[in-house]
Amino acid sequence: MSDFLAQCRAVVGEAYVLDAPADMAPFLTDWRGRFTGKAAAVLRPGSVEQVAALVRACAEHRVALVPQGGNTGLVLGSVPDASGAAVVLSLARLNTIRQIDTVNRTMTVDAGCVLQQVQDAAAAEGCLFPLSLAAEGSCTIGGNLSTNAGGTAVLRYGNTRELCLGLEVVTPQGEIWSGLRGLRKDNTGYDLRDLFIGAEGTLGIITGAVLKLYPQPKASITALAAVPSPAAAQQLLVLMQDHCGASLTGFELMSRFCLELVAREFPQLPKPFATPHPQYVLLELSSSESEQHAVGLLERSIGAALDRDVIADAVVATSVAQSAGLWQLREHIPLAQAKAGKNIKHDISLPVSRIADFIAATGPQLEAAFPGCQLVCFGHLGDGNLHYNVAPPEGISNEDFLVNQDKVNRVVHDSVVAFGGSISAEHGIGALKRDELAHYKSAVELNMMRAIKAALDPLGIMNPGKIL
Ligand code: FAD
Repeated sequence: MSDFLAQCRAVVGEAYVLDAPADMAPFLTDWRGRFTGKAAAVLRPGSVEQVAALVRACAEHRVALVPQGGNTGLVLGSVPDASGAAVVLSLARLNTIRQIDTVNRTMTVDAGCVLQQVQDAAAAEGCLFPLSLAAEGSCTIGGNLSTNAGGTAVLRYGNTRELCLGLEVVTPQGEIWSGLRGLRKDNTGYDLRDLFIGAEGTLGIITGAVLKLYPQPKASITALAAVPSPAAAQQLLVLMQDHCGASLTGFELMSRFCLELVAREFPQLPKPFATPHPQYVLLELSSSESEQHAVGLLERSIGAALDRDVIADAVVATSVAQSAGLWQLREHIPLAQAKAGKNIKHDISLPVSRIADFIAATGPQLEAAFPGCQLVCFGHLGDGNLHYNVAPPEGISNEDFLVNQDKVNRVVHDSVVAFGGSISAEHGIGALKRDELAHYKSAVELNMMRAIKAALDPLGIMNPGKIL
C-alpha cells in the first residue's frame, strides 16, 4: 500500500492524498449518518489526466476505488465498506464549466460541478438546466449522472439520463474515453453513454458531460390542492395534463400525515388549510408565454377539478415568497422525518394508473404485520414515484422498530412487484439495496449485468459491492 500511495502522491501532490483519519472522516460517512466505512486514503485529483493516472495506479496495485461526488447519495453507494482496503476518489476538484453553446443549447461541464453551479451558469445565459432536487447545493453532476437522479421536474424534462448528450469517462484501465458529443442524433452502434449513466461508479469514472439546456419559462405558478384520496390525485393528474399539456411541470403527492409531521417539526412553515384533508397535491405550471397564460391555465383546470369533485379545496400562491413557502412544505418532509427519527424508507415507482391501488393494498398488509405502524407516503406522483416510508407505532422507538427492516421491505417490495413497479425509482441500488435487487431481478437480467461488469472492469476494482 505504501508504494501505491507514493505513486498517487507523485500524480496529485502530497496535499491531495489524505490518509489522516480526521481528514478522511467527511468522505467516509453517508449523508444520513447510517454507516461509516474505512479507506486506505482519499484521493483528490484536479484534472482528467490525474484521474486516469490514479485509476492506472489502482489497477496496477489491485486497489479498489469508490468514486465520490457530493456524497449526498441515499443508498450507501458513495462510501467505502468497513474493510479499509479501498480508496475514495473524490471528483470535487473537477468543477469547471467548460463551455456553453446557446445555439446548440448545450453546456459542457466537469463532473465535479455542483448542480446549483450548473443551474446558475445556465440561468446567466438566459437558459434553464431543469434538474432540480433538494440536495442541489451539494450534489454534483457526476453523481447525478451516476445515479440517474430524478427530482421535481422529471414530469416535464425527464431524468438526468434524458438531460445528457455526451460523456467523458475514465475507464477501469485508466484510459480516457472522450464522448463529449453535443448531438441529439447519433446512431453509431451501442450506446456507451447510457451504460455509464446510472452505473453508480461500477463501470468507470465520469469526468465530464455535455448537458441539454432549455429555454427559461416566462412564468411559473404554484398551487396546493386538497384531494380526498390517492385515486382523486391520479384523476387530477390526468385532468391537469389534458388541460395544460407540457406546461404542467410539477405534481407532488403528500399525505395528511406528512404535512402534520412537517407542522410538528417546523411550526414556522405555512399552514395553507384551516382543516385537514386526507391528501394534498403540490402543482407547478410553467408558461413559455406569460404569467397571465400560466394563471389562466391553472384557474381553468382547478375550476374543472372542483366542478367534478376531484379536489376539495385549493390554495394558489400569488407571490414568489408564497410559492417558495408551498415548496418548503414538500421539501421539509425528509427533514421532518430525519428530526423525528430513523424510519424504514422505500423509493419505489409504479405505473401512475396503479398508485392508488398500491396504496390501498399495501397499507393494510403493513398494519396486519406491524399494528400501529405509521406511513410517511409522498413523492413525485406525476412520474409514478413514491417515497413510501414506514415509521414505528407510537410508543416504540425508531431503533427498536428498525429490527423489522427486512420484513417491512419484503411486504412493501413484494407489493411493488405485484403492481408492476420497481424497488428503486431514483436513488439507485448502492450497497443498501443490493440484496433486494438480487431477490427481485430475473437471472437473465442479472447475468447480463454481470457480463457487462466483467467485460468493462475485469479486475473488479470499480466500486465493488455496489449494485451487484
Ligand atoms: P454521491 O453521493 O457522491 O455518489 C452517488 C453514486 O454515484 C455513488 O455510487 C458514487 O460512487 C457514484 N459517483 C459519484 N460521482 C461519480 C462520478 N463522477 N463517476 C462515477 N461515479 C460517480 N435523488 C433523486 O434522484 N431525486 C431527489 O429528489 C433527491 N432528493 C434528495 C434530497 C436530499 C436532501 C438528499 C440528501 C439527497 C437527495 N437525492 C435525490 C439523492 C442524491 O442527492 C442524488 O443521488 C445525487 O444524484 C447524488 O449526487 P452526489 O454528487 O452527491 O453523488
